[in-house]
Amino acid sequence: MKIATMKTPDQVIIPLEQHAGAVCNPVVSVGDIVSVGQLIGDGKSMIHSSVSGEVTAISELPHPAGKNVLSVVIKTHDGEKKEFKPGDFSTYKMSRIIRDSGIVEPNGLPTVYKKADINTIIINGTNTWDLSSNEALMLDHPSEIVDGLRALIKSVGAKKATIIIELDSEALQVMRTETIPDSNIKIIATPTYYPPGTESTLAKKFANKKVPRGSTPDDRGVLVSSISAMKALYDALCDGMPMIKKVVTVAGAVRSPKNVLVEIGAPIKDVIEACGGCTGTPVKLIMNGAVSGAAQYTDEVPVIKTTTGILVQTESDINREPPSPCINCAWCVDECPIGLLPHLLYGYADSAQFDKCAELYIGDCVECGMCAYVCPSKLPIVQIIRYGKHGVAAMEAEMEVEA
Ligand code: SF4
Ligand code: SF4
Repeated sequence: MKIATMKTPDQVIIPLEQHAGAVCNPVVSVGDIVSVGQLIGDGKSMIHSSVSGEVTAISELPHPAGKNVLSVVIKTHDGEKKEFKPGDFSTYKMSRIIRDSGIVEPNGLPTVYKKADINTIIINGTNTWDLSSNEALMLDHPSEIVDGLRALIKSVGAKKATIIIELDSEALQVMRTETIPDSNIKIIATPTYYPPGTESTLAKKFANKKVPRGSTPDDRGVLVSSISAMKALYDALCDGMPMIKKVVTVAGAVRSPKNVLVEIGAPIKDVIEACGGCTGTPVKLIMNGAVSGAAQYTDEVPVIKTTTGILVQTESDINREPPSPCINCAWCVDECPIGLLPHLLYGYADSAQFDKCAELYIGDCVECGMCAYVCPSKLPIVQIIRYGKHGVAAMEAEMEVEA
């Protein structure tokens, strides 16, 4: 599926929290006129305006994570495409460029590497079942993605890089052709499997490096990144443009399902409209795929840097069968790629025993959704684990205050 470009929305809502760990501080005020690519939020990662326009509000607004987050609302200027010139990034070190460009991985972590001795880079080019934005990016921008990767290899001194692509992906041959001159870049074709995106799983499977709990792949000399990050890196290096757009797969009950290039901050209702609107009455909007995505309580939430897809479901797509009690079959345990005990986490989180959740490493859950997918009792394990994570965070914050 090729990428369509969506018309710039009348207004964008850009949350100042688009990566794990911190909310950025606004560096603009209501009434300011901003340009495409201008810095509007500064913090652990950078957030930039995706449009030219006027800042009309800075307030707490709905966020795809199901909470209200401080956001910058920008009314776009009609048809105006004033480009921001952010200066010459070439003098910055690569890590600085990545940070200043606000490049974030699909899992919400900024694209950073802590260790200098990276030996292997793994780029995840696989798709989840109902999303195909990676494939669309590779089909439309193979040379930019590989150029971004070449720059990264050079800057970190990696000896080799691997791009993982599904066997049946149309992008496989395109990327093989693109990387013919690079003896240090290997394309690995893999059967479709799930979950494709856990960094530690990829490091183990494709670089043969086991990542102990509490460590990250770069502790073992492996940097795991994504197709979208490589494209964003290319944009930053070649055009000086920070991460202000995302390719989003719009699927399910829409008239014209497609991959669409969207300004960050575009409300998802506008994105659905750009795909011809819904067929039938939508009853569920899921951001980022049916297995591990999160249902949204309003279509006013914006596309953010971690958005990869929007799935629209009607009543007939939804299984309303009520969950039944856990039967201790341990299927969820067998499937968990992190080695957690999802059934116990579910029970402890559901009964607000957050200390027990912390003891069982609830924070390591990558919310891949495999446990819920295989559960014969149809328990909402991921949602309850998310609730448990919030409970642990609140408990730890309280303990810090008391200490
Ligand atoms: S969502 Fe379930 S299977 Fe996936 S990491 Fe978390 S507990 Fe394990
Ligand atoms: S798969 Fe479901 S029913 Fe089986 S142990 Fe896990 S939570 Fe319980």
